[in-house]
Amino acid sequence: MRSARILKAVLLLTAVLLAGGLALLIIPMFTPRRVPSVLFDKARLTFYTSLLDLFRNAVLTLPFWGALALTLVLQRFMPARPEQKLFSPGFGHDIVWFFYETVLQTLVIVTYVALLSRVYQKYFSALTITSVAEWPGWLRFIVALLVGDFLYWCQHLCNHKIGALWRLHAVHHSQSELNFFTDFRYHVLEYLVRQTFLVIPFLILQINPPAIALAAVLLRWYPRFYHGNIRTNLGPLRYLLVTPQSHRVHHSIEPAHADKNFGAILSIWDFALGTQCRDYSVYPPTGIGDTNFPHPHRRRPVGWLLAPLHQMIYPFRKGAGERT
Ligand SMILES: [Zn+2]
Ligand SMILES: [Zn+2]
Repeated sequence: MRSARILKAVLLLTAVLLAGGLALLIIPMFTPRRVPSVLFDKARLTFYTSLLDLFRNAVLTLPFWGALALTLVLQRFMPARPEQKLFSPGFGHDIVWFFYETVLQTLVIVTYVALLSRVYQKYFSALTITSVAEWPGWLRFIVALLVGDFLYWCQHLCNHKIGALWRLHAVHHSQSELNFFTDFRYHVLEYLVRQTFLVIPFLILQINPPAIALAAVLLRWYPRFYHGNIRTNLGPLRYLLVTPQSHRVHHSIEPAHADKNFGAILSIWDFALGTQCRDYSVYPPTGIGDTNFPHPHRRRPVGWLLAPLHQMIYPFRKGAGERT
C-alpha cells in the first residue's frame, strides 16, 4: 500500500516535470518576449532549443498536417469500426503519447543513435561499404527501403516471439481504438531495440534514409496513416503495401490473427515468408488480452497525462504481457 503511494508520488512528480518542460517548450512559440529571461541560462537554452526544434520538426510540417487531415477525413467517411468516434478517448491517450515521444526522442533516442554511430565509427568502420555512396540516388533509395523494411520486419517478428520484447511491444498493441497517433505509442526501450536493428546496417551501407525525402515521408507518415480507423485494403496495392486493413489484423485481439502481418511499409515480406493473413475483408477489434494493463480511465483526461508513465512501467510488472 505504502509502496503504491510512493510510486504514485514519483509518477506525479515526473509528470509535473515533463508538463513543466513542455510548457516552457510551448510558451516561447507564442510569447517569446514575455518569458522571464532567467529561464534561459545557457545550459537550459541548449536543452529547450533542441526540444523546441524537435517539436517543430514533428508538428509544424506539411506532411504532418496532410497525413493527419487525410486520415481524419477517411476515418469520418469510411471507418473500419463505425462505433469508434473520430475524437475518441483512445485518440486523446495517443496524443499524450505523442508529446511524451517527442521529449523521449530528444532525451534518449537521439543520444543513443549518436552513441551507436560513434562506437561504430571508432571500432567497426572497416565494415563500411564505401562504394555504395557512389550509387545513383534512386538505387540508394530502393536499397534503403528494402533493407530498412526487411530489418523492421525482422525486429517486429522478434517483438512478438521473444517474451521480454513482447512485454515492451504490448504497450503499442494495447490500444483498442486505433488512430493516427497510435504510431507514437511505443515503449522507449522498444525504440532502442529498433534503432539497434536499423542503424548498424545503414552505417555499413552508408545509407541515411531520412536524407532521402521520399523514404522519410514513407517511413514516418505512411505508418501513421494506416493506424487510422479506416476501412480499406487498398485493392491490388495490398500485395505491395501494408494497409489499414492488414495492420488492423496485426493489432487484432482475436487469437486467429496472432502473429500475422508484421510489415512496416511493404507487405511483400509477409507474403514471401508465410505470415500474411489472406482474409482481406475482416476489420477485427484490437487490443491485448491482459486485463491488468493500466488503461487510463476513459472519462478522466487529467489521468491521461500519467498514463504513459504507468504503461512504461507495465512491462516490468509480474505477469505482464500474458496472452489470454
Ligand atoms: Zn506488433
Ligand atoms: Zn501498429
